[in-house]
Amino acid sequence: MSAAVTSNASDALITDIASLRGDFPALRQRVHNRPLAYLDSAASSQCPQTVIDAIVRQQSQNHSNVHRGVHQLGERATMAYESARERVRDYVNAASEHEIVFTRGTTESINLAATSLGGSMLSAGDEVLITWMEHHSNIVPWQMICEKTGAHLVPVPITDAGEIDLEAFDRLLNERTKIVAFVHVSNALGTVNPARELIEKAHAAGAVVVVDGAQAMPHRRVDVRELDCDFYAFSGHKMFGPTGIGVLYGKERLLEAIPPYQGGGEMILTVSFERTTYNALPYKFEAGTPNITGAAGLGAAVDYLSRIDFAALEAHETALLDYATERLSEFGCASIIGTAADKASVLSFVIDGIHAHDVGTIVDGAGVAVRTGHHCAMPVMERFGVPATARASFALYNNEDDVDQLIVGLRQAVELFR
Ligand code: PLP
Repeated sequence: MSAAVTSNASDALITDIASLRGDFPALRQRVHNRPLAYLDSAASSQCPQTVIDAIVRQQSQNHSNVHRGVHQLGERATMAYESARERVRDYVNAASEHEIVFTRGTTESINLAATSLGGSMLSAGDEVLITWMEHHSNIVPWQMICEKTGAHLVPVPITDAGEIDLEAFDRLLNERTKIVAFVHVSNALGTVNPARELIEKAHAAGAVVVVDGAQAMPHRRVDVRELDCDFYAFSGHKMFGPTGIGVLYGKERLLEAIPPYQGGGEMILTVSFERTTYNALPYKFEAGTPNITGAAGLGAAVDYLSRIDFAALEAHETALLDYATERLSEFGCASIIGTAADKASVLSFVIDGIHAHDVGTIVDGAGVAVRTGHHCAMPVMERFGVPATARASFALYNNEDDVDQLIVGLRQAVELFR
C-alpha cells in the first residue's frame, strides 16, 4: 500500500499532499527561463490532468446540447452535465440535486441571490448585513438591490488582525436584518470566518444567510448541511476546475419560493403570450444553454478533491503559510496585511517604499506569479490604509521551493528599489 493513502479501501484518501503536484501539467513549465512558482491560486487555481481530460472528452466526443436531443450525443452531453451536478451535490452534501444551480461563477451566484432573494424579501428600512472584508462581488450586488428596494447595506467592521469584530456583528444584527451575507474565507486577508457561529446567530435573528465560499472550496471540506447556510456560492476555477462555471447552492424551500433570475429557454415549462410557467428546480434558474463543458470539468475537479484527505491538506497548507510568513519576516521592511488566528493560504503584504505592482513585476521576472492590487476588496485596502498589496496565495500543489523562489524575487525587488 502506498504511504500516500490512509487505508486499503479502494476509496482511500490521499494524505501525501506533496505527491499531487505532478498532476498539474501547467506547473511543469518555465517562465522567464525559471521554473514557474505559481502563487496566484486565489485568483485561479491550475487544473489537474483529469480535469483537462474531462474537458477534452466532452468537447471531442460529447459536444451537443443538453435536455433536448434524443440522439446519442445529446444524451451523453445531458449525462455529463447532470452527473456533474450529482457529484457536486454529493461533495457539498446538499440534500437534493434541486439545490445545485449551475452559474458562471461566484459573482453570478451572488447576483442571482441578491436579485431573486433580495428582490423578493427586502423592502424600505430592511437591512442587509455584510462585512468589511467582502470581495466586491459580495458588496455590489447587495448595494444594487438595496438601492432598488430602499433597504440599507450595513457592513460589520473588522479588527486590526483582519477578523470580523464579533461584538459589532452581534450589535448590528437586529430585527431589521433580513439577509446576512459574508465571505467564508477572505481572498484579500486569508481570514477563515467562523461560519457556523455566524449562521447560527443570523438564523436566531430571523435572517437568511448567503455565504461566499469562493476561497473556502479549495482549502476546506465544505458541508452545506452541517453549516446550515441557506445559500452557498462558489466558482469552478478556484477549485481546480475550469473558468465560466460555478454553483449557487440554495435550500430547496427557499429556491422554490423566489422568482427566476433570468428568462429564456430551459427555465420554462410552458410559454404563451399571456403567461409563462416556470420549470422545476434547478432549471428555473438556468436560462439558456449552460456551460456543459465547464460542468464536466467541475465534476472532474470535485472527483479530484473527493480523493484528498483534507486534514492532511490543511496541515500541508498551514505549514507552507507558516514557512512563507517566517521567510517574509527576514525583510524588516515587509508588513503582512491579515494576521487572523485562523487563516488559509493567503499572504498579503506590502514592502515599505516599493509599490505592490513593482513587486509583482520584479518577482514575475524570477518566474513567480503573485497578484498585486486591491484584490477586488477596496474596503479592505481602505481599512488597512494601503492602496494595494502583493498577494502570494497557495494551493495544495505548492511547496517550500515556490516560497524560496518568491523570496529570491523579493530580494531582487528590494535591492533594485531601495
Ligand atoms: N468572492 C471571493 C472571496 C473571491 O475571491 C472571488 C474571486 O476572486 C469572487 C468572490 C468572485 O469569483 P468569480 O470571479 O469566480 O465570480
